[in-house]
Amino acid sequence: ATPTAVMVATGVGASNGILIKGGDALERAHKIQCVVFDKTGTLTKGKPSVVGTKVFMKIDTADFLSIVAAAEASSEHPLAQAVIDYTHHFLGFDAPHVAADTSDTAKSKDTSWIKKASAFEAIPGHGILCEVDNKKILVGNRKLMLDNGVEVSDTVEDYLQSVEKQAKTGVIVAINGVLAGTLAISDPLKQEAAVVIKGLNSMGIQCIMVTGDNQRTANAVAKEAGIGNVMAEVLPGGKVDVIKKLQANGEVVAMVGDGINDSPALAAADVGMAIGAGTDIAIEAADYVLMRSNLEDVITAIDLSRKTFRRIQ
Ligand code: ADP
Ligand code: MG
Repeated sequence: ATPTAVMVATGVGASNGILIKGGDALERAHKIQCVVFDKTGTLTKGKPSVVGTKVFMKIDTADFLSIVAAAEASSEHPLAQAVIDYTHHFLGFDAPHVAADTSDTAKSKDTSWIKKASAFEAIPGHGILCEVDNKKILVGNRKLMLDNGVEVSDTVEDYLQSVEKQAKTGVIVAINGVLAGTLAISDPLKQEAAVVIKGLNSMGIQCIMVTGDNQRTANAVAKEAGIGNVMAEVLPGGKVDVIKKLQANGEVVAMVGDGINDSPALAAADVGMAIGAGTDIAIEAADYVLMRSNLEDVITAIDLSRKTFRRIQ
């Protein structure tokens, strides 16, 4: 393609909210054979909400939730805000003027009701631990429980599996080493996700989903999206290995992601595409920024490159 064609294509991208960082990035996109999608915030809306709680201990749901909210108040994980918002609502703290304003900032502004937690520690990919009211609290997945000697009974396991089969994430809570309850958290797919996967497949491009979430939830989400190839329970830092393995097999790989832990993979991919609504670190690491945060722009971007760099036959 001529420099003029590259300039024109870059302009067309920009007018569609697709920022392309240079002619090399524009060129590489026409060779993409495989697109790796992050799950949370990329394929899904990234606004998780609690859709159910189940307490397995003799403790009020209100007390249970206020302990979990206290623990999550120090976490930056997307699941944390869902727990805090749900607890805030459950405890009846939604003042009318707050309830009317659905923005996250309005909801999270008043934190005075949240109990203080101490000795907070985040275990990436597994959850959090801390102390609330002098009790040792764990909030996270099975691995966190296993590593800390908390037994997950068959009853709890059955419940978790039923939640996960519905594409929801089951979060487990332990108090002083005993499993206290679980929360079911839902993060729906973006509306366009399934159509985009279908479109990419029809362009001859293979789609893969990668996530830190558990295998069962991941499979259910991937099924809804029409993705057959799922890599779940990938630890932060593991996504880049997924990309490198595909490249070692000779694939030209694109990565689409939004999170801090996606940025090494975005940088390693032949083409990294960041979701505009994502973290600054992801946006910096990527070759493309999809400002509209709409997955259709993955197709638009590849099309644009194909039209610019493939001779029309
Ligand atoms: P994801 O790709 O879903 O963002 P992460 O690697 O961040 O995955 O986390 C993997 C899993 O660890 C989550 O699905 C959740 O079960 C658990 N987890 C991590 N942080 C938290 C937290 N603050 N509260 C509850 N669960 C957590
Ligand atoms: Mg994400």
